[in-house]
Amino acid sequence: MKIPALERTIDRAEAPAHYAAALIAALAPDPALWEYRGEMIDGGISALSPPRCACGHPIRWLFPIYLPGTPELAAQLGSTCILHYAAYRPDDAARMQERLAAMEAELAAALAKARRVKSMAEVAAARERHAALTGAASERYEYYRSGGLRAPRSLWWAVASRKGAVPGPDECPQYTRPADARRWHEKHIAALIAALTSALGDK
Ligand SMILES: [Zn+2]
Repeated sequence: MKIPALERTIDRAEAPAHYAAALIAALAPDPALWEYRGEMIDGGISALSPPRCACGHPIRWLFPIYLPGTPELAAQLGSTCILHYAAYRPDDAARMQERLAAMEAELAAALAKARRVKSMAEVAAARERHAALTGAASERYEYYRSGGLRAPRSLWWAVASRKGAVPGPDECPQYTRPADARRWHEKHIAALIAALTSALGDK
């Protein structure tokens, strides 16, 4: 049976309200009494039994809050409920947001670093291939020359001509972005492959 669009819309609108009400109920007698002491816990990712916010919502990052005078009582908030909690204890909620933002910035920096390491490795691999093909093309060209033979035109063009000589890997310009250096090597790799391949068919 198809759920009418209007009903689905109501469901979506009611879900946050439902969780907010569940949170207020969990933080009896008064959410404003529960204090935040600066902790943030990674609850991990588990599809079977995810950690849950006091409101019942599955979450990843936990912010424990305590009801003073009752050390055994602790509740944990998820990032969404920080907003509900902010209505009761804005300063504590702001500290939670700060920790969350700092952690997100750290994750973003780690991700950016990993991406950079990966693209540097890709540049190194392209450079190596460029060097190998440069060597292969010159060797082949020298083979003709040393034998007193005329090298195929495409090979001569790529290796020894003034206008068409393919630059070697060391001539790579100083690019700021690794992707540009990789593309530069790839362009010359393609030219060397074309020269070596068509040299096979040349007379
Ligand atoms: Zn919640």
